[in-house]
Parts: sequence; structure tokens; C-alpha cells
Amino acid sequence: MNAFKQMETNTPTKDEGIYDIIIAGAGCSGLSLLYSILNTGSLQDQKILVIDNSFQKANDRTWCFWEQSPGIFESLVCKNWEHISIHKNEFNTTLGTAPFSYKMIEGLDFYNYVINLAKQFNNVYWQEATVTSMETENGIAQMYWEGGMAKGHKVFSSILPIDDLYAISQGKQTAPFLWQHFKGHLVEFETSVFDANVARLMDFNVDQKGATGFMYLLPLTDKKALVEYTLFSKTLLNQNDYVLEINAYLQKHYPNIKYQIVHEEIGAIPMTTLAFAQSKAPIYVIGTLGNAVKASTGYAFHFIQEQVKQIVKSLINGKKVDTEIHNTRHKFYDAVLLHILSNNLMEGSEIFKRIFQKNKAATIFKFLSNTSSLWEDICIMRSLPTNIFLPAAIKVFIRRSSF
Ligand SMILES: Cc1cc2nc3c(=O)[nH]c(=O)nc-3n(C[C@H](O)[C@H](O)[C@H](O)COP(=O)(O)OP(=O)(O)OC[C@H]3O[C@@H](n4cnc5c(N)ncnc54)[C@H](O)[C@@H]3O)c2cc1C
Repeated sequence: MNAFKQMETNTPTKDEGIYDIIIAGAGCSGLSLLYSILNTGSLQDQKILVIDNSFQKANDRTWCFWEQSPGIFESLVCKNWEHISIHKNEFNTTLGTAPFSYKMIEGLDFYNYVINLAKQFNNVYWQEATVTSMETENGIAQMYWEGGMAKGHKVFSSILPIDDLYAISQGKQTAPFLWQHFKGHLVEFETSVFDANVARLMDFNVDQKGATGFMYLLPLTDKKALVEYTLFSKTLLNQNDYVLEINAYLQKHYPNIKYQIVHEEIGAIPMTTLAFAQSKAPIYVIGTLGNAVKASTGYAFHFIQEQVKQIVKSLINGKKVDTEIHNTRHKFYDAVLLHILSNNLMEGSEIFKRIFQKNKAATIFKFLSNTSSLWEDICIMRSLPTNIFLPAAIKVFIRRSSF
């Protein structure tokens, strides 16, 4: 059931005054922040306004991420894997993920969970509206939508102008900009076909479309899996092109076995070290807008949780809020990898194959979480040919604007 349907009460009126916190955008980052604030004793009584253009939430995405120990959303994890596999031509490897576990959460479970908790708080107000602008006057943030406005001491916004972003990605920028775009089918076969213990992270034996393409196959049971045709490239495909590739893949691997499509998801995640927006008190940017996405991979869920932790810590201590979560060293590696990918200096499939061939999954996960040591970074970078990696690193380093 959609939790938002029950929320006709507790909507703001013109006399509500100034909110302590306005959360603009009730998606992954906005609701993660709301959840953490409401779970923090000293912040629980803050007067909070949550604005989103639609509270009719759908199961529009699944989030996967890795963790060493149970996290705050452990009860929502619908599946976890202790093994991942990578495939390219004759190269097939399955790696144990220990001490990490690769986990999946369904979007709707997450939205409902946080909303149901927040509904118990009378100090949380809800506004279904499309925010049209935000500005600051005398240190107070003002949020406008058609027919209304609200004021807040602090605004946390994840409202991403995706069309503007697409225009930026097609223009000339100081940093490489790729899209991680995909369509996924949740399929259910009539007979047992999958090994439910292994998440197929990247199978490059698909049409690369002149970029980096792979199938991402997450088996939930031996009959049911989420199968996503994913590309890292500058432009998106027509919807039908993803579907054709998924169908061909399933036909190749599981010929003539009947299956049904139970659910679909589509996505386009920006992969860039370019900052879309900057936090400037009292308006702070979070989530994708707040550059939480890891530029070289498109993973964001983990970093959104890190960003939220950092914000909540500042709110508790009354310190300056800092939304930057990627350290310069790892941003530099991201910029180098993106430079190599976007200039086709080496096939993406070859880069990822070599990284997974020469390193343990745990080291790669640490690297991708920005928590690897310098030595671990060197091990990862050594997986790539020096004649490609070094000139790219020097070029990116000289043109520092991209990290
Ligand atoms: C299909 C899909 C699958 C993904 N899978 C993964 C994954 O497995 N692992 C991972 O780490 N990352 C994944 N990501 C990337 C990332 O984690 C998600 O995009 C995540 O939802 C980003 O969170 P966010 O809060 O920035 O944006 P969102 O979750 O998109 O939230 C933004 C909110 O703002 C609202 N909004 C937008 N414009 C306005 C406006 N003008 N006024 C009011 N409200 C507005 C939207 O309705 C939305 O609710 C995925 C992304 C997609 C699209």
C-alpha cells in the first residue's frame, strides 16, 4: 500500500511560520535524511516540511549496495549475495564478496517504511507540489511552488532538473560526462534457471554499442531475476533497443524456456565529476543533485547514506553543514577512469575485466566506497596498462578542474 495516500492531514497552512528544516524532494536522499533526523533524539522535535511533486510513489527503482555489517535499512533488504561474477568472452570469474555483502532494497519498501515512521510525528508537514524556485532572503530560505511558498532555516534539496542536466551533458564541459543508462526486466521463468547465490555484476558479452555495455543480472530466486541492459555512454538509447538486447540475452542463455516479465525499471544516472550545484547556507544540495553519485560507477545509495550521516552530525553539533562526501583522491581516480572511458582510450569492458581479474572483490568494493588505502588504490590502478593509465592521470591532474 502507498503510505502517502493516508497523508491528507498535517499539510502546512499559511500561518505555519518558518520551518526549521525543509526537505525538497522525497526520494532516496530526502527520505534518508528525514529518517535519520527522526531517529536522532536531539533533532526529533524539529519542525520539518517535506515537499515532493508526487507522493503517489511507485516501485520505480531497486537499490543495490555493499555493506560489511547490518545497516540502518537492514530490515528492508530483500536479497543479499555473497558472490559476484564478471564475464567477458572466455573470461568468467566468480568472486566471494566477504567481508562485504551485496544487498538489494526495493524502492517502494523504502518509501513506505520512512513515510510510515514519519507519519507518527506531528512536527512533520507534507506538501505535494512542484517546486518552481528557491531563494534566500535575510538568511532564510524561501521555497516557491504554484500557489504557495514556505520559509525555512535550512533547506535540503534533491530536486534535480534532469532536462537541464541532459543539456549540460551534451554540451562542452570541463569534465567528462557519461550517462549510466539502463532498462531492467524483472523476469520469472517457469523452471529453475538461475544460481540465486551469485549476482552477475557485469556480463560484457552483449552489444557494446560503441561504448561500454553489459548485462546486470540479479537472481532473487532460481526462477526470478532482475535483468538490466546497462550502458555507460554519452547518449541514451530508444526504449526498444534495451528490450531487444534483454530478450536476445535471455534467449541465448535460456533458450525456449518460458518466462513472464513481472516488473520493469528504467534509469539514467549521471557519471561525472562536474558539480551540478553547490550547497550554500541555508540551501544545501543532497543526493544526485548534491553530487553523491560515485562518478565512475553510478552507485549512489551508499554515498547518500554517508552524506546524510555527515549532515546529521553537523545538525547535532550545530556546526557548518558540509555536503561534500567524495575525497579529492578518489575524485581524481574517478576523473581518470571517466577520462579513459569517455575518450575511448581503452574499452570499458577490458578495464573492468582487468580490475576484477587482478583484485579481490573486497578491495574493489573498498576502492568503490572511497575507503581504500593508498596501497589498495595502487593495486587497482596497476590492473590497467601503464601506457594508458599514466598519460590519462597526468592529463587529468594538469587539468585539475575535473576533480
Ligand atoms: C532505476 C534506478 C535504479 C538505481 N539503482 C541504483 C542502485 O542499485 N544502487 C545505487 O547506489 N544507486 C542506484 N541508482 C542511483 C541513485 O541511487 C538513485 O537515483 C537515487 O534515487 C537518487 O536519490 P535522490 O534523492 O538524489 O533522487 P530521487 O530519489 O530521484 O529523489 C528526488 C525526488 O525529488 C522529486 N522532485 C523532482 N523534481 C521536483 C520538483 N520540481 N518539485 C518537487 N519535487 C520534485 C522527485 O519526485 C523525487 O521524489 C538508481 C537510479 C535509478 C533511476
